[in-house]
Amino acid sequence: MSTTDVIVIGGGPAGSCAATLLARAGRTVRVLERERFPRFHVGESLLPYNAAIFDELGVTAQLRDAGFPIKRGAQFHLGNGSKGTGFVFASGKFTRHTEAFQVERARFDEILLRHAGGSGAEVEEGVDVERVEADAEGVSVRLKDGTTRRARMVVDASGRGNLTGSQEGLRVMNPKLKKLAVFGHYDGVQVDPGTKGGDTVIIRQEHHWFWMIPLRLDADGTGKVSVGAIVERDDFSRAGQTAEAFLDGRIQASPPVRERLAKARRVSPVHVTSDFSYRNSKLWSPRCVRVGDAAGFIDPIFSSGVFLAMYSARAAVAAVQTALKAGTDGSAEFAAYASRVQTAMTIYQEMVDGFYTTPFMELFLEPRAKWDLAAAVNAVLAGELEGGWKLRCRMKLFFLLVRLQARFPLVPRVSFAPAA
Ligand SMILES: Cc1cc2nc3c(=O)[nH]c(=O)nc-3n(C[C@H](O)[C@H](O)[C@H](O)COP(=O)(O)OP(=O)(O)OC[C@H]3O[C@@H](n4cnc5c(N)ncnc54)[C@H](O)[C@@H]3O)c2cc1C
Repeated sequence: MSTTDVIVIGGGPAGSCAATLLARAGRTVRVLERERFPRFHVGESLLPYNAAIFDELGVTAQLRDAGFPIKRGAQFHLGNGSKGTGFVFASGKFTRHTEAFQVERARFDEILLRHAGGSGAEVEEGVDVERVEADAEGVSVRLKDGTTRRARMVVDASGRGNLTGSQEGLRVMNPKLKKLAVFGHYDGVQVDPGTKGGDTVIIRQEHHWFWMIPLRLDADGTGKVSVGAIVERDDFSRAGQTAEAFLDGRIQASPPVRERLAKARRVSPVHVTSDFSYRNSKLWSPRCVRVGDAAGFIDPIFSSGVFLAMYSARAAVAAVQTALKAGTDGSAEFAAYASRVQTAMTIYQEMVDGFYTTPFMELFLEPRAKWDLAAAVNAVLAGELEGGWKLRCRMKLFFLLVRLQARFPLVPRVSFAPAA
């Protein structure tokens, strides 16, 4: 049985990122991925701060060559058309990276995984991991085919499969976010002209919301767009409809979405997924560190998933490297890693919790230049997690104003009622 320095379970963005960085640092790395790539995956809108990680991986040129649409901002509108706002990352005072890719994940994930292979990681696809057992010398990784692989350390990047978190009973569902997503890809969707064509467009109804993420921009002002609705899980069950009928019904009942899709046709199956908002109570075990969705996932609204997946993978690699050099089981290094990642996740958790309340939306949709609060929100939406006290103070003030707005209208109230 051969022993590798690190086994990475899962070849999504987190796993590929970890594998590339470890291989480039001279470690022997084996990626074990259940699927064969390319494979479909949800999660198509990236954040600008991913750019620094792509540079570090040495994959930026390949991603540019792939021709993914460029996202320069995000728009948030009420479903009745009464109010909306747009964030342009380049106009953010604290925003250091200002452009992101909008990606078909099948293609994007394959580029990252092949790049990990090209960087020296050994990539095995079609390999389903069943169990991970650590001992004093290393880790045994048992596969569903009955064979076992050995390594000194494991990076669990198994996504929502949450392999080691489930094995150890660590998954804690968020009781406030019992959401369900129903989504598909559409061709011929009207997109905004000019640089706004690459924006993510969010349409907020009172109890559900839509995303529209351009995946390809065509010369005639339309494009291929990922369209999804996030609804209460119980609303979907109560409707008793097929996923297709449910999504179509929601689209038809939402004028801004209906208008953009007036000449569109669906070019993918309609997918449904739920129970995605959770965190593991512990992000590591001896010789095993959990990254990306295998650490936790908050909510799709601010498109933070892939960025946090790669951010956590990069942080985990630093911890693994220190532990391997010191010959430890990683406990101390992984504990420090976990605290850093929990802090990052909490920044988005606070934004997500806010998004589902009306006072937050009232302030969010009325960005004011005062005290640079809108600039601070802009930076967080771009992926700024290490902006220091300047950003922290402003975000604290923003959330204080949200609490005040709940009692006294600092900015006008919004209404979700259908337009007359
Ligand atoms: C509805 C919805 C919308 C979203 N929208 C966005 C968005 O717009 N932008 C964004 O950034 N994020 C979004 N996300 C989140 C995003 O999809 C994830 O955060 C991201 O894919 C996490 O990357 P990962 O590498 O951790 O996991 P994944 O991308 O899920 O990769 C995990 C890999 O592990 C493999 N695997 C699992 N179990 C095993 C096993 N036992 N053995 C071997 N391999 C295994 C899987 O096959 C998979 O390839 C969304 C999520 C949801 C639910």
